[in-house]
Amino acid sequence: MITRNFSWAEMQASATARRKGFDNTIPASLRPNMINLCTNVLQPIRDAYGKPIIVGSGYRCPKLNKAVGGVSNSQHMTASAADIHSLSDRLSDNRELWDIIITLANAGRIHCRQIIWEYGTLTGPDWIHIAINDAIHSHRENQILTIER
Ligand SMILES: [Zn+2]
Repeated sequence: MITRNFSWAEMQASATARRKGFDNTIPASLRPNMINLCTNVLQPIRDAYGKPIIVGSGYRCPKLNKAVGGVSNSQHMTASAADIHSLSDRLSDNRELWDIIITLANAGRIHCRQIIWEYGTLTGPDWIHIAINDAIHSHRENQILTIER
């Protein structure tokens, strides 16, 4: 486990990587990023939310990122981002998770680089991309974005 509720296995899991035979193990040099993300952002969110959080995509090796159409500078490749959603994956439940994240960020209890509402509708996002600052991406404080279809 990385923290009480987040494991290395779920941060490296990918059906696409398995199908294509990619080794999606997080390199040792990038593990501190994932530990930072889980310890200082995801676990505090989980504790405030009080319910399971599903990780749809954590780390992506460069080949996996390309295979899933990720942007070329994706923070998934530096193990400093995760796409998360609620257990039910209903938009309204994802919205509840979003609201908790924004509340924590506004209260200064978590420090992110980006928090992105990904697709969905006005009811809620399909998933939430959450990323921390790392050594190779420009530093930001809680940049909140919405990506629409
Ligand atoms: Zn993402």
